[in-house]
Amino acid sequence: MTVGGAIDADAMGFALTHEHILVDFIGAGKVSKERYDASEVYKIAMAHLVDLKKSGCKTFIDCSPAYLGRDVMLLRKLSEASGLNIITNTGYYGAAQEKFLPRHVYTESGEQLAARWTKEFKEGIEGTGIKPGFIKTGTDTAPLTAAQRKIITAAALTHMDTGLTILVHTGNGAAANEQAAILNDLGVDLSARVWTHAQNEKDMKYHVHAAHQNCWVSFDGVNPETVDANIGYLQRMKTEKLLDHVLVSQDSGWYNVGEPSGGNYRPYTCIATELIPKLKEKGFTTGDLDLIFKTNPAKAFAIKVRMKNR
Ligand SMILES: [Zn+2]
Repeated sequence: MTVGGAIDADAMGFALTHEHILVDFIGAGKVSKERYDASEVYKIAMAHLVDLKKSGCKTFIDCSPAYLGRDVMLLRKLSEASGLNIITNTGYYGAAQEKFLPRHVYTESGEQLAARWTKEFKEGIEGTGIKPGFIKTGTDTAPLTAAQRKIITAAALTHMDTGLTILVHTGNGAAANEQAAILNDLGVDLSARVWTHAQNEKDMKYHVHAAHQNCWVSFDGVNPETVDANIGYLQRMKTEKLLDHVLVSQDSGWYNVGEPSGGNYRPYTCIATELIPKLKEKGFTTGDLDLIFKTNPAKAFAIKVRMKNR
């Protein structure tokens, strides 16, 4: 489900599964579209998206959630002008000591939160008719707080109603296991979950374990400084024959609200220009790369209810 409407999952093509156009770190209490000039953001972001499109990318998954700078009209304009598919999200981000959670998280039940997110999928976001293509949530390291457990529960309930994939920002491997247990207890098949920022956990046995549980393991901090570390993670997953559970992205961008001209906007092209050539040198085949950047994203973000034993 893109900001321009539904497409066949197979039409996603080369996809980057965790990137950002705009982020506002001011906090849930103060965030507002009045804090930036959308036409300035458009101009700056568009130049980077043009470069990305030229590098062969077709689909861009924007991971900025509500209360952290989600602006779906801006995303739609950028999608139309760049020709890239752009996907946005519903859900709340509970990491960073819950700075980005709205107050109603503390007064409403998991069911009530899920009803809000499901409504965005059924009716569109903020009256725009634009629908989310996945659920974005987040927790810090283990142990999860009560509010973090509640939003993971809400994500599971939303998944059951909508078939949207649950992508969870995660502090470490122990937190990943705790989230998986919540989803598992509610009957959600873990193929509906993306462990985003798996690179925050350096102990690769957690990555292997999550993939064996059928989770998507997302190494999404690729930049010039981390190319080699990411190659190490990918080599391990290839050796374990688990590349069919891996996603790779950059967590790049973004227009940082509050900084002059959006601050230091990191380009989206490191995977194309640095990571892929190096992976080829290390013996990764075209088949491996198609799996990571085309087949896996299409499977991971296809909209489908995934419950155990059904
Ligand atoms: Zn991110």
